[in-house]
Amino acid sequence: MKTIGMIGGMSWESSLEYYRIVNEEVHARLGGVHSAKCLMLSVDFAEIEEQQRRGEWSKATQGMTDAAQSLERGGADFVVICTNTMHKMDDEVEASVKIPLLHIADAAAQEVRRLGLKKFGLLGTRFTMEEAFYKERLAKKFGLQVVIPGAADREIVHRVIYDELVIGKIVPASKAEYLRIIADLQAQGCEGIILGCTEIGLLVQQADCALPLFDTTLLHAKAAVDFALA
Ligand code: GLU
Repeated sequence: MKTIGMIGGMSWESSLEYYRIVNEEVHARLGGVHSAKCLMLSVDFAEIEEQQRRGEWSKATQGMTDAAQSLERGGADFVVICTNTMHKMDDEVEASVKIPLLHIADAAAQEVRRLGLKKFGLLGTRFTMEEAFYKERLAKKFGLQVVIPGAADREIVHRVIYDELVIGKIVPASKAEYLRIIADLQAQGCEGIILGCTEIGLLVQQADCALPLFDTTLLHAKAAVDFALA
């Protein structure tokens, strides 16, 4: 089994899910008392959030490449960045180490494609929904058609992530807003929704709506186990 190197803490609420899922998956596949071999480097999210808000992306990139290199030195066989947003600097992280980077958008897109869907909604932070780094990968590499909510709804999705989900606050009114936004995307012809932020699965689950939901935390963690056991 390979050792998974996780850059976590963005936020720790979702890193906890990664840790749980990789261990549950390894146990489900290997049985006995098997568990995942992994290292997690968990950052202080306050520093990351400030860099994002101020647009200090070169500082943020330095932090991510330093983290990847620490994991490599510590014995990780590959790197998993446990957040969608911080894949903005995926190329730099990949270039900074000799071990591979397992991309979160690829894990989600492979599942979308496996189910034969093409047009889907994307929810995530403002950076993930609005900037090219995530959407273009899905469109160019996987031929998927991405729809994002309108400006006012993007603001709601972003605010709920930073004001509530990253500190473990689950607010029923926010869940209702997310479900309304998902219904709007469905009305626009979306065949599924990518939960492109690793905390959204804490708020909205498949049982809450009929439209297929692609939880990037779950899919990325499972892809990490596939790779670790391959
Ligand atoms: N975990 C979130 C994501 O998947 C947001 C936190 C962050 O900005 O990294 O994008």
